[in-house]
Amino acid sequence: MRTIDSFVDGRWVTPQPDQDHPGVEIRDAVTGELVGVSTAFGIDAAQVVAAARSAGSALRAMTFHERAAMLKELVGVASTVKDELYELSATTGATRRDAKVDVDGGIGTLATIASRGRRGFPDGHAAPDGPPEHLSRDGSFLGQHVWVPRPGVAVHLNAYNFPVWGSLEKLGSALLAGMPCIVKPAPQTVHVAERLFRALLDAEVLPTDAVQFLGGLPESLFDHLDGRDVVAFTGSAATAEHLRGHPAFTARSARFLAETDSLNSAILLPSAAADDGHLERFVAEVKAEVVTKAGQRCTAIRRAFVPEDAVDAVVSRLQDAFAEVTVGDPRDRGVQVGALVDAHQRERLAGTVDKLLAGCRRVVGDGPLELVGDVDPAAFYPPTILLLEDEDFVDVHELEPFGPVATVIPFTDVAAVVDEVRRGGGSLVTSVFGDADAPELAEVFAGIGGSHGRLLFHDATMAAANTGHGSPLPMLVHGGPGRAGGGEELGGTRGAQAYLQRIALQGSPDTLTRLVGRYLPGATRQTAKGHPFRLTFDDLAVGDALETGEREITLADVEAFAALTGDTFYAHMDEEAAAASPVFEGRVAHGYLVISAAAGLFVWPDPGPVLANYGLENLRFATPVYPGDRISVTLTCKDKVARAGSDQGTVTWDAQVRNQDGEVVAAYDVLTIVARDPAKVG
Ligand code: NAP
Repeated sequence: MRTIDSFVDGRWVTPQPDQDHPGVEIRDAVTGELVGVSTAFGIDAAQVVAAARSAGSALRAMTFHERAAMLKELVGVASTVKDELYELSATTGATRRDAKVDVDGGIGTLATIASRGRRGFPDGHAAPDGPPEHLSRDGSFLGQHVWVPRPGVAVHLNAYNFPVWGSLEKLGSALLAGMPCIVKPAPQTVHVAERLFRALLDAEVLPTDAVQFLGGLPESLFDHLDGRDVVAFTGSAATAEHLRGHPAFTARSARFLAETDSLNSAILLPSAAADDGHLERFVAEVKAEVVTKAGQRCTAIRRAFVPEDAVDAVVSRLQDAFAEVTVGDPRDRGVQVGALVDAHQRERLAGTVDKLLAGCRRVVGDGPLELVGDVDPAAFYPPTILLLEDEDFVDVHELEPFGPVATVIPFTDVAAVVDEVRRGGGSLVTSVFGDADAPELAEVFAGIGGSHGRLLFHDATMAAANTGHGSPLPMLVHGGPGRAGGGEELGGTRGAQAYLQRIALQGSPDTLTRLVGRYLPGATRQTAKGHPFRLTFDDLAVGDALETGEREITLADVEAFAALTGDTFYAHMDEEAAAASPVFEGRVAHGYLVISAAAGLFVWPDPGPVLANYGLENLRFATPVYPGDRISVTLTCKDKVARAGSDQGTVTWDAQVRNQDGEVVAAYDVLTIVARDPAKVG
C-alpha cells in the first residue's frame, strides 16, 4: 500500500504510518480499491515551519515581476502533467469534463495571476496603493500607502473537491506576494495534488523551501504559527469554526482566511417567469450546477427560487432535463455525472437529503439509480431535485447537501425572496434571471448584494458568453461574507493582498520616491543629460526631467484646431456664449489642443529610443487656457518597467503643463515604449 509522499525541507519523504497512526485510506471512488494512505506521521511541524521561514528572504528579495515570471514558468510545468492529472481525477469520481474544470481551470487561474501580477504590480518590492497624500501645504511631507510582503509563512489547507484549482489559486497569490507556502491538501484527493506538486517542485523553478507539500497534517502545525503568518483554509464552515479558536489566531493574531460552504441561490424574477428564454436558461443553469463535479462545488446552486405560479413549469422542465442524464464510470465519455469522492461523502449527503425530506418532496431522482459501467455503487448518488413544500421549514436555508442536489423553493414576492436568500447567512454567489429593465432588479440588488461575494445577472444578451454560475473567475473576487467564510480570493491582484501588509509611509518626497521606486510629486528632479527621449530605457532614471520652452496658444490655433477636428463646441467658437457659461470667461482653447501643443514642446522629432506613445492616463484639465496664454511643460520620468525577454521597456512620464503664471493647466501621465540598450538586455 502506497503512502502519499511529502516534500519537506528540500526533499521528498515517505511518512511511515504505524498501527497507532494508520493515516487516512484513500479509495478509488469508482471501484472502491485502495489508492494510498494520507498521513504526515513522523513529520516534524517545527522543521517544516522553520524551513519555510528560511525561504522567505529569497522570495522577498525578488521583485513582484520576478515572482510573476516564476509563476508563469510553473504554468508551463503544470501543463506537462495534465493528462496524468485527468487520469488520477477519474479515481476521485470526476468525469473528463469535471477534471478539466479542476486541472485546466487551475492552470489557467495560475496563468492569469501571473499576468495580472505583472500588469498590476510594479517591478519592485513595494506596490503603491492609491495616489500619494499631501501632508503639508509646501509639499515637503507626503504620505503613500504601499503593499509589502508579510514576513511569515502561508499555510494552505485545501478542500477535497478541487485538488488542482484549489491549491494553485492559493499558491499563485501567496507566491506573487512573496510568502513561502506550506500546502496541505484534503486527504481524499491528495494523490492528485501530489502528482501536481511533484512536477512543480522537481522542476527547480522555485527557491529552496519556498513551497513544501504535506501528504497529511502534522501534529501541532499551528502551534508554530504567529502574527507574521497566514492560514488560508477552504472547507466546511464547521471545520473553519473549529480552527478559528486556535491560539495561533486568538492569541497570536496569525491571519486566518476562510472560504467555506455556502447555500448559493438562483432566482427567477417574477417578471421573467412567463418568458420561455428565461425559463430555459434557469433550468439549464440549475441542471449544470447539479451535474458538474456531481454537485461537489462550493459555488453550486443549492436553492432555486421560483415564483409560485411558475413552479409547475420549472419542475416539469427540470424533470425533462434530467431524464437523459447518465450516471456512472467517469472514464466513460458518455457519462455526465460521476461518483462522489467516496462512500463516506455519499453517506453524509444521503443523511442531509433525508433531513431535507422532512420539509421537501423529491421531484427528480426518486427512481432506481442505473449506473453506466462496472462500478462499485457505494459512492454514487442520483442527481436530485427537491421541491420545498413546507414554507416554514428552515433547514433548507441551513443544510448544505454537498452533492448533485438542489431544492426548488417557491416564493410569493420580491421582498420574500430577498429575505429567504439572506437566510443562507452569507453566500458565495447568486444568479438572477431577468431582463436588464426588470422592475424587481434594483430591489433584489439592494436586498441581497451585501450578503454575497458575487452576483451573476442572466439575460438573453449575455447568454452565449456566460461563463457559468459555479465558475469563479481569476479576474473576479471569489469568497463571501458570513457562512461563506468571510474570505476573499482571486480578483486579479486582489487575491495577493491577503498575503501582503498594507502600510502607510510618511516622509519627504525624495525618501518616498526612493523607497517606492516611483517619482512622487515634490521629489527632486534631475535635468536629464540631454533630451530624455534620446536616452535608452537603461540610461533613463526615475526623476529625469525636461523643462520645455514656452509656446503661445493663439485664437488662430483654436480656429485651426476646430477646423481640423470638427470640434466646434461653443466654448471654443462663440465668445458671447462662452463668457455666459458659469465655467469660462470667454473663448477657451480645446483641452486636446493644449495637450497636442504640449507634445509639440516635449517630443524629440528624430528617430531615437522612444519608439511609440501608447496612451495617456489620469488626464485632468485643471485651468482653462485662453487665447494669448503661454504654456510650457515639465516632463518627468515617473516609472519604468522592463519587459521580460524583450529589447523594449515601458516608461511612464509625469507631464505638468503650466501657463505663464505657473498654474497647472493640464496634468497627466504619458505612456511610452522605449528601446533598451542592447548591451544591457539580460
Ligand atoms: P473539510 O472537511 O472542512 O476539510 C477541509 C480541509 O481542512 C482539509 O484539508 C482537511 O484535512 C482540513 N482539516 C479538517 N479538520 C482540520 C483540523 N482540525 N485541523 C487542520 N485541518 C483540518 O472540507 P472538505 O470536506 O474537504 O470540503 C468540502 C467543503 O468545502 C464543502 O462544505 C464546500 O462547500 C467547501 N468548499 C468551499 C470552497 C470555497 O471556496 N468557499 C471551495 C471548495 C469547497 P484533514 O481532513 O486531513 O484534516
